[in-house]
Amino acid sequence: MIAGHFGFAAAVKSRAPDTPLWALMLATVWLDVVFIPLFVVGVEKTERAGDARSGYGASIIHADWTHSLVGMALLSALLGWLASLPWGRRPGLVVGLVAASHWVLDLVVHRADLPILPGNAGGLPLLGLGVWRHPQAAMAIELALVLAGAWLYWRAASRVVATAGRGGRAAAVAAVLIAAFGVLVLALDVTAA
Ligand SMILES: [Zn+2]
Repeated sequence: MIAGHFGFAAAVKSRAPDTPLWALMLATVWLDVVFIPLFVVGVEKTERAGDARSGYGASIIHADWTHSLVGMALLSALLGWLASLPWGRRPGLVVGLVAASHWVLDLVVHRADLPILPGNAGGLPLLGLGVWRHPQAAMAIELALVLAGAWLYWRAASRVVATAGRGGRAAAVAAVLIAAFGVLVLALDVTAA
């Protein structure tokens, strides 16, 4: 899931206007951003699920550090704390919670590959509801997140420009761009081999 995370960030922006959109977009994929260098050095890995019928949602992801429940909480707290330094307490809290939301959305789609403790210490049960086994359902969830996020963003942004006495065109353009970007990212994700 990539597009769905961005859609969720746009939805949060509509309720947290004092937090920059780019920071919410970064927060929403923060765990995956930290995953990339660990993946490059081979600490975290992916493999193709045996039951996968398409490229989309086909991965079992061994992100035992960044996507463990405890690791996610620590990484989210770190990003939230960093955001609180320039922007204050509430935006810091929002950024931290958005970072944590990544794990909750991943929990829905991932096959059971999310550990509780970092490094899967103790070999506790792995978590994941596995909606990726049904790619159409996962796509529908992502598309709904993108469209709902763009719509909520548009509603909130047009209210802001209306109170500022300006036309609503910029808000509409921004919302269309968010929706188009989300659909494009989803299309690339779905068509990736
Ligand atoms: Zn992830």
